[in-house]
Amino acid sequence: TFEEESNNTDHLETRPPVVTIMGHVDHGKTTLLDHLRHSHITAGEAGGITQAIGAYQLKHQGKTITFLDTPGHAAFTEMRARGADITDITVLVVAADDGVMPQTIEAIHHAQAAKTPIIVAVNKIDKPGANPNHVMEQLTEYGLIPEDWGGDTIFVQISAKFGKNIDELLDMILLQSEVMELKANPQQNAAGSVIEAKLDQGKGSVATLLIQQGTMHTGDPIVVGNTFGRVRTMENERGKEIKKALPSTPVEITGLSDVPEAGDRFVVFDDEKTARAAGEERAKNALMEERRTKNTVTLDNLFDTMKEGEMKEVDVIIKADVQG
Ligand code: GDP
Repeated sequence: TFEEESNNTDHLETRPPVVTIMGHVDHGKTTLLDHLRHSHITAGEAGGITQAIGAYQLKHQGKTITFLDTPGHAAFTEMRARGADITDITVLVVAADDGVMPQTIEAIHHAQAAKTPIIVAVNKIDKPGANPNHVMEQLTEYGLIPEDWGGDTIFVQISAKFGKNIDELLDMILLQSEVMELKANPQQNAAGSVIEAKLDQGKGSVATLLIQQGTMHTGDPIVVGNTFGRVRTMENERGKEIKKALPSTPVEITGLSDVPEAGDRFVVFDDEKTARAAGEERAKNALMEERRTKNTVTLDNLFDTMKEGEMKEVDVIIKADVQG
């Protein structure tokens, strides 16, 4: 299971931090992500940037950082609700001319609920109306207190648009991740979570996965949520085909029998037969669960249900309940 693979503590090695950028609309998340993507790619890769998948890695001071390009708060909430806390560090972007806004607060609550440390990036400090001190004051109300004021939250004043202090922000991310001692075992079967998935006309089911444990190889038999398959192809975020991927790496894979959901867990199995059996078992359970929750039949409403001619459906439910 995912839990077993995640709790495996042999051969632990340092892994890159997984970072999500959050904040109120228009405070500069996209600008920051774009700046990072374009300024921190290694030579030779520049032409290949397609931002094929909703996550990417960059190198800073010789160390890798994984950024999740969250399609929005809704998806993030969904993932969290389903138990897939895949973010190690949240970068909270707050515009210095606008201050704390509703989605800023929402983002703080998400991060605090998931127990991920927050690094505050006070953005747009180039603007005439910028008031970083006011932002810092506002945030103390939410427990985010700068080190200078006796707290332990890291604040960096940046301009995403003009690329100011971005290296400092990356330094702070690496510092925070060192403190957290993030580790994974690259020698075990891969396990992780689905970032997004879709049905592609030509390729079939295409899923973006974040590898959280182990190393994934092409050809690996895999169970993802309620579906299973074999990793037919694997690409990195630049659309380049790769054969293996280490912990904290986002990859796009094909070869699944169905389209999983964002937040679904995945686990690689030793052989395809076991993967298939586990996948089918999960699909069956999910179907049962869906029926159970959708048609709760009690003695009170059994008669009504029968009158509506849904006897067959009721039959299934009763049997399922008796069995287990
Ligand atoms: P998002 O909704 O949080 O992704 O915000 P965007 O990245 O789309 O930025 C919203 C607007 O703010 C855009 O017009 C950006 O050009 C502008 N913006 C972002 N960062 C900065 C900055 O550091 N300085 C200034 N002056 N404008 C910025």
